[in-house]
Amino acid sequence: DRLVGAEAESDESAVEAALRPRELSEFIGQSKVREQLDLVLKAARRRGGTADHVLLSGAPGLGKTTLSMIIAAEMSAPIRITSGPAIQHAGDLAAILSSLQEGEILFLDEIHRMSRPAEEMLYMAMEDYRVDVIVGKGPGATAIPLELPPFTLVGATTRAGLLPPPLRDRFGFTAHMEFYEPGELEQVVHRSARLLDVRTDAEGATEIAGRSRGTPRIANRLLRRVRDYAQVKADGMIDRDIASRALAVYEVDERGLDRLDRAVLGALLKLFGGGPVGLSTLSVAVGEERETVEEVAEPFLVREGLLARTPRGRIATPAAWDHLGLARPPQSPG
Ligand code: ADP
Repeated sequence: DRLVGAEAESDESAVEAALRPRELSEFIGQSKVREQLDLVLKAARRRGGTADHVLLSGAPGLGKTTLSMIIAAEMSAPIRITSGPAIQHAGDLAAILSSLQEGEILFLDEIHRMSRPAEEMLYMAMEDYRVDVIVGKGPGATAIPLELPPFTLVGATTRAGLLPPPLRDRFGFTAHMEFYEPGELEQVVHRSARLLDVRTDAEGATEIAGRSRGTPRIANRLLRRVRDYAQVKADGMIDRDIASRALAVYEVDERGLDRLDRAVLGALLKLFGGGPVGLSTLSVAVGEERETVEEVAEPFLVREGLLARTPRGRIATPAAWDHLGLARPPQSPG
């Protein structure tokens, strides 16, 4: 697992749970989403009903699970957590839906990865609070309609564009979560440091935030690694020097690039003069699978404006030369 990977690691959930904001007012950043969601929830509470279905889209680690738990807390409702890949058959979904309590929040992570039949069952459940349970097989199969209590579905997806329109349209409220600004990540680091009982000064928090790739989960993870370093190599206090020395040990640079990111960029610059070069060639040069380069390293490099994908291949931007401390090649005329 990568230190700067945005996906949750398996042993991370307990720490993450401890660091989760419990109320909307504690949730840092995403001010537009917070304001809109606040209205949706307040209105639902005032009506004494359940809130509209909510779709949260955004990259891993930006706080979708956290927000769904906050929705449940604000509605004083229980929450059930599952994910698209966990629902293989429509029957799996029927079992979950039919056991929901009135007003319960159903959090469905990676909702775009649900099977087709489950998806179709979900349409009806969202709209009419009803499912048809199929009993039997073949020509003798019958559909038994089952009434469901009103519930709120909170769906999460990394890309809302991946959802079939009929599903997307059934959400009353859609929120797109953006990457966090450095100042917001500093607040995340300070808040988590307080909860973990770690001392950090302002510059230490800035240093960690700047390497966190706009993602609170990564900020929290880097903070824990820097804390280890501070406790073993110093007096436990995190300042700029400790943070940057610790993250140098873990090969996370000032901009949040790790070894793989830098290897890709380095090959592109040093072996191919900044490109254009094809993905396969670039992957062979760094000794990684195509998919790893394309899906793990490139998205962040593109987002950072260090690499561009063009029809002729991958090219480095001028900023890439600067970042690796290499002289930019002379502009070829024309
Ligand atoms: P996602 O479901 O989008 O992958 P999570 O909700 O699991 O992300 O968040 C990952 C970690 O980041 C959690 O530990 C959470 O506490 C923290 N986090 C996410 N968003 C925020 C935020 N806005 N303020 C404070 N901490 C946050």
